[in-house]
Amino acid sequence: MNNEYLLKNLRNVPDFPVHGIQFKDVSTLYKNPKCLKIMVNELYDLYKDKGITKVVGIESRGFVVGAALAVKLGAGFVMCRKPGKLPAETRRESYVKEYGKDTIEIHTDAIDEKDIVLLHDDLLAGGGTMKAAYNLVRQFNPTKIYINFIIELTKEGLHGRARFDKVVDITTLLEV
Ligand code: AMP
Repeated sequence: MNNEYLLKNLRNVPDFPVHGIQFKDVSTLYKNPKCLKIMVNELYDLYKDKGITKVVGIESRGFVVGAALAVKLGAGFVMCRKPGKLPAETRRESYVKEYGKDTIEIHTDAIDEKDIVLLHDDLLAGGGTMKAAYNLVRQFNPTKIYINFIIELTKEGLHGRARFDKVVDITTLLEV
């Protein structure tokens, strides 16, 4: 979609958190009411007819628009969190990111087989984070899983999308 207004308001921070990374700082989109509205409305248009029953947001930048979208879709919201943050029983998965290694967790009672799930995060880089979340959600055997990012890094040779089976329905609002 590449909305010009969103692109204009997205801040790039060079060499954060480590040298060589061009960090796409979505906080400048989140703090701007017009950008927030554009993102939630564009996503609503993409998913309003899909029967989504749960939006799964990835900590922490996936919580902001993910939760707003869940309200608009009339769906529930589930948190995928860093290790040790969720209080009840969890499933966990480790993965490699564009910079460093990490693990994510989800509550074992977060999703059931009747759910139609939309996984959401702010950004697709190498794809490790979302692949781990996708693997976790798949273990619940839900009816269908969709994936969305606000931003997809396409110009840095990361090929995050290639980590997913072609049949997986992935959308992004901005290609950077
Ligand atoms: P990956 O697992 O490599 O796809 O990395 C995606 C996750 O790391 C997302 O949760 C992003 O918030 C964060 N991330 C990775 N690379 C960047 C980047 N260049 N700019 C902003 N966030 C990034």
